[in-house]
Amino acid sequence: MPEQLNETLHFTKNWQQQLADAFNNIEDLCHYLHLSIKDLPVSEAAAKNFSLRVPLSFAASMQKNNPNDPLLRQVMPIKDELNIYPGFSNDPVGDLSSATQIGVLHKYQGRVLLINTGSCAINCRYCFRRNFPYSDLQLGKQHENAAIQYINDNHDISEVILSGGDPLLLNDERLEKLIQQLSAIKHLKRIRIHSRLPIVLPARITNEFINSLTKSAKQIVLVVHCNHANEINTRVIAGFTLLQNKGITLFNQSVLLKGVNDDATVLCELSEQLFSLGIIPYYLHLMDKATGTGHFDVPETTAIALIQQMQNILPGYLVPKLVMEQAGALSKQPINFPIQTITLKDN
Ligand SMILES: *Cc1c(COP(=O)(O)O)cnc(C)c1O
Ligand code: SF4
Repeated sequence: MPEQLNETLHFTKNWQQQLADAFNNIEDLCHYLHLSIKDLPVSEAAAKNFSLRVPLSFAASMQKNNPNDPLLRQVMPIKDELNIYPGFSNDPVGDLSSATQIGVLHKYQGRVLLINTGSCAINCRYCFRRNFPYSDLQLGKQHENAAIQYINDNHDISEVILSGGDPLLLNDERLEKLIQQLSAIKHLKRIRIHSRLPIVLPARITNEFINSLTKSAKQIVLVVHCNHANEINTRVIAGFTLLQNKGITLFNQSVLLKGVNDDATVLCELSEQLFSLGIIPYYLHLMDKATGTGHFDVPETTAIALIQQMQNILPGYLVPKLVMEQAGALSKQPINFPIQTITLKDN
């Protein structure tokens, strides 16, 4: 069957079927991208540590025949992952020690984060979660009541963050029940969802899903995770529009990644594209230093220079906050930069 027809058919399937069809080996992905596996620094051992997983909707946005495609780089298991880099570890952000109880991270004032599931629709090679026993920490059905009770009992909690893994991998029924239970908690102001699915598996954004959100009287915020403007395709835009039409506030956060988006033009283009779609750039994260991700690391000085360049080009609201996660800190840590001034020429 011609590829085009195959794809058209694929995108008529529901999100669970699309997820089941995701690429799970590098040979198939290379074949799809017209690349030869022997020309790529692919590593079987790296794939064994953390498997390849890429929905077709995301792969379809990659450039064919480009071994350095910025989207491909985010998902391809390569030899560099096996290198040891100083300062990289298995729990770089101290999540293990901040788990209040199973599935609940209460690290910052007023906000709790629920680890709704340990899995994702895509396996991002740079992920801090790749070596982490998230499946042990995830909020199973049997722990949900205890988590709700905890939020009920702590009146200073004003926002609950559904996270993971990717919380949108939960089915609508479970999400709706959870949102209902949270909505009944008086002192809660907002429910925030952090998800990469609107970008990598936009078929997840269905009317049924949105209805389960809008039934809640709480404000709903959805933070999508997009690292490069090329990730935004027509399917992604259709999902954004559905959400926005129902009054869901959308933000974006990105991770600064070497060889993907460590370039002011790329970052500016991402901000511009997002904003043209009504999405505010929220955070640009320095990568968490997780074992196996050292080759993505962008030094802090480079990151500061990039943000300065963005600041000099874009209106302030299009410059995301440059932050890093630090174990034990009271919030995400903003990374500040020195004041730049115009040097006046002597005549
Ligand atoms: C990132 C994070 C939050 C949210 O922080 P914001 O700065 O409000 O986006 C909350 N809890 C945990 C554990 C987090 O890692
Ligand atoms: S948690 Fe986020 S970065 Fe990690 S694999 Fe899932 S989607 Fe990718």
